[in-house]
Amino acid sequence: MIMILIGPPGSGKGTQAQRLEQRLGAVHLSTGNLLRDEIAARSSLGKTAETFMNSGQLVPDQIAVEVVAEHMKRGEPDTDYILDGFPRTTNQAEELDRILEERGLEVGTVVEIHTNDEVLMERLTGRFACANCGEGYHKSFKRPKNDGVCDKCGGVEFEVRSDDREETIRDRLGVYHSETAPILPYYAKRGLLVRVDGEKAMGDVTKEIETILIDGR
Ligand code: AMP
Repeated sequence: MIMILIGPPGSGKGTQAQRLEQRLGAVHLSTGNLLRDEIAARSSLGKTAETFMNSGQLVPDQIAVEVVAEHMKRGEPDTDYILDGFPRTTNQAEELDRILEERGLEVGTVVEIHTNDEVLMERLTGRFACANCGEGYHKSFKRPKNDGVCDKCGGVEFEVRSDDREETIRDRLGVYHSETAPILPYYAKRGLLVRVDGEKAMGDVTKEIETILIDGR
């Protein structure tokens, strides 16, 4: 089963996908994470992707499609996937259909996590992470128990993801509305799209998505 989570940056796609991965035994495939791994490995693909990502733009479709196709090739043919952050353009949605068709698969359910831009700005401008272990925090919603000390590893240095700065966030939201939101009708026409309210508490959104995915199986 191929499930897609679509939502603007900060809508909680990544967190929801991680939770669903455990609950449904599916593989969480995040193109953002795969691209950040490429950047950390200093690969040539990573170097190209980095410039786009740091300025809040989408990487070219060809790069995003390549990382997904490569990842799927390495998996078992019957692996269930939760796609997080892919597809993000109509072209990627069409490419995904082609990759899946070659494997005798098709998109099952597409969940849109709908969230207002102002709520997203507040969520995203407060995010920071431990520079040592990567544990995520938020200045309003999840501060370390002892200020300045990571709960998980005791690290004392923190960093803000380079694409979580305010101007970059505005650009990323603009890109979501102009490039990604137009793929929603592509799935709606096929009766695959379900919308959940991403402004609800994280746990309630998880329950709602679980009900949709389990009932829809
Ligand atoms: P994310 O972690 O999903 O918020 O992605 C972080 C950044 O990676 C995005 O702002 C884009 O620059 C890039 N990215 C991730 N997935 C894609 C994709 N499917 N197509 C193009 N760019 C992507």
